[in-house]
Amino acid sequence: MQRANISAVAGILQQRCPRCRTGRIFRKSLFLFPGMHESCPACDLKFEREPGYFLGAMYIGYGLALATIAILSFLLWRIFHWPFQRVAVGGVVLFLPFAPFLTVMARVLWIYLDQTIDPDRSEN
Ligand SMILES: [Zn+2]
Repeated sequence: MQRANISAVAGILQQRCPRCRTGRIFRKSLFLFPGMHESCPACDLKFEREPGYFLGAMYIGYGLALATIAILSFLLWRIFHWPFQRVAVGGVVLFLPFAPFLTVMARVLWIYLDQTIDPDRSEN
């Protein structure tokens, strides 16, 4: 299987398969959380390798969420000079629209991390 000539960062941002970087991990969808392909449409790499596989993605998602809330809270503090509680609540409220996108990106990052550490060497 020939890998498409795009970098890992571009592959992550475009949500492409980590092995071939051609197939999309998620289906196109109008919903907030798009459906995932079971395996890569191009090279057949299985995305969910075992039951509970995406538990690791939750840790990444938690980190992404905390970082986003911290950045948004900091911006509120810089702009409005509110007290800590109000800034923290405001950061969480402003974070909510980003939650579906961050959930998707956490899964993509998890698949890339897992395939970097323990690549699936099976060929179809
Ligand atoms: Zn692929």
